[in-house]
Amino acid sequence: MTDPNAAVTADGRESTRGFDPGDRSESDVADTPEYVCEDCGRRFYAADLLVLHRGVTHPAALDDAERDAYREAYAAEERAIRSFRIRALGILVALYFGFLFLYVFYAS
Ligand SMILES: [Zn+2]
Repeated sequence: MTDPNAAVTADGRESTRGFDPGDRSESDVADTPEYVCEDCGRRFYAADLLVLHRGVTHPAALDDAERDAYREAYAAEERAIRSFRIRALGILVALYFGFLFLYVFYAS
């Protein structure tokens, strides 16, 4: 049985790395794209990007392992987007009240 978190790449090897887009290290992002879609030939820099591309563009061509990998990658992407939105909202609120207090302090 294979690791459910493993990504099945185009050349059949598995990557045991998780799909959290935030934990990509510099070594994971190569200078030249090495993950190639076997259906359309498009190239990607990271395995999870290829999995997301295949799930969106070629959903009928996925096998069960690729489908599970796509669901995992999609959920990780949603978590990352939700986290970004919360942090962006926090920064906007801090800027709003920061400038509001600056205005109150210097305008009075
Ligand atoms: Zn493709």
